[in-house]
Amino acid sequence: MTMSMDLLQRLTGLVGPAGIVTDPSDLEPYAVDWRKLFPGKPACVVRPSSTEQVAGIVQICREAGVAIVPQGGNTGLAGGAVPDASGTQVVLSLNRMAAIRHVDPVGLTIEAEAGCILKVAQDAASAAGRLLPISLAAEGSATIGGVVAANAGGVNVLRYGMTRSLVLGLEVVLPDGTIANGLRRLRKDNAGYDWKQLFIGSEGTLGIVTAAVLRLLPRPKHAVTALLSVADPAAALRLLALAQDELGDQISAFELISATSMQLVAKHAGLKAPIAEGEWFVLIEAASSLAGLREAAETMLGAAFEQEIALDGVIAESGAQAAQLWALREHVTESEAREGKSVKHDVSVPLTEVPRFLSEAGEALAAGAPGTRVNAFGHLGDGNIHYNILVGPDHDAGVVNRIVHDVVAAFGGSISAEHGIGQYRVGELARYRAATEMELARTIKRALDPDNRLNPGKVLLP
Ligand code: FAD
Repeated sequence: MTMSMDLLQRLTGLVGPAGIVTDPSDLEPYAVDWRKLFPGKPACVVRPSSTEQVAGIVQICREAGVAIVPQGGNTGLAGGAVPDASGTQVVLSLNRMAAIRHVDPVGLTIEAEAGCILKVAQDAASAAGRLLPISLAAEGSATIGGVVAANAGGVNVLRYGMTRSLVLGLEVVLPDGTIANGLRRLRKDNAGYDWKQLFIGSEGTLGIVTAAVLRLLPRPKHAVTALLSVADPAAALRLLALAQDELGDQISAFELISATSMQLVAKHAGLKAPIAEGEWFVLIEAASSLAGLREAAETMLGAAFEQEIALDGVIAESGAQAAQLWALREHVTESEAREGKSVKHDVSVPLTEVPRFLSEAGEALAAGAPGTRVNAFGHLGDGNIHYNILVGPDHDAGVVNRIVHDVVAAFGGSISAEHGIGQYRVGELARYRAATEMELARTIKRALDPDNRLNPGKVLLP
């Protein structure tokens, strides 16, 4: 028995029997991350139904000296939401706190509890004729609290920014059990420190997000999706500049897909690009409330051919065709998994350095890890590449990682563009962040969580 009866009784007394999970088979979905890289063992799972209950759980665990791991939809890709294997950590799942508290279509805000599924919040905004632009493939399971805690990105960052840029207000339970209520709907608020920023992207290590106010936008009435092939990443960047000229701030997505990614999608998902084969592909989406978008896209496509930037290209004729183009991009990860083992990297470099990064990382791998294959794709418009390496049984993942991340660092990039650090990258961070930055982070952690009880072992090692 790794958990005391007294602690279990106190937690059950607070949240009721429906709010506690202890049966080993029921604990399973909470114990391991989405990619099944980090199997853990929770002491139990507590599922509060109110902010006051979250505060109570934190206080009880604090008195018992027990660590808490906050968990939303458990779709995170850095192993941040699962406990270690000690059997002593309590998972605090927000999945019973899922209410949408308000949607304001004029003030352009939505307030939702942390456990609200992202798709449910998107649909509520859409029903009010508004757009919640955070969009990622896991949106049917990821939660508002998880998206905020991870500062999630996704396909719309180019136009709308990361989650951080959409958060107006937060309610957070601090590691000492106090509730910090900053659920303001204000667009302008310079009254003191903007403390909520500390919790956005902190991956549950500084506080537990219980509710958030997010910014909405008018829902665009028109959208256009195009797929183009280009000779190389430098041409893809020239295409981005052209798209910026012709479509301006209407571009919401600019995704790069390598020929390898397309081949994997054809092989494992049976999907094929409806344009001539090329070395690189770019998927562009633009959206606007005003008419004339399609004409602008056609002008861009014409100019791309005229200037010999694009080799081939198509603009979707219907919503169904647009979905088919998107399906190519969305099946890359799954097709890669079917191909075999891969070492994944979610990196960013300054946008204009992407072509040089791709070429130098490729050369470094050919020299240091021969026989590996690069599967590169991602959010080129944000300088964010998912640089995944298909490896054989004899390749050492640590060596591959080091090669790629050292090249990223040489370009002044980040080893985690949007997936966070969690436990996946926690050992690597100190190599790529300056000692002063690491110490600053530790100072913040110590100030808020001196006993290291909130999600220990994630993001920052003591
Ligand atoms: P979880 O996985 O449960 O938790 C993530 C982190 O936040 C953990 O550290 C956890 O402890 C903490 N946390 C969770 N809830 C709270 C809370 N209420 N308070 C405090 N801390 C909390 N991410 C992107 O950025 N861009 C993408 O394009 C993208 N695509 C994805 C595609 C797929 C198929 C999958 C499986 C994942 C993808 N992700 C992507 C990663 C993931 O979906 C996001 O990180 C998402 O924000 C996680 O939400 P969640 O509710 O599942 O959080």
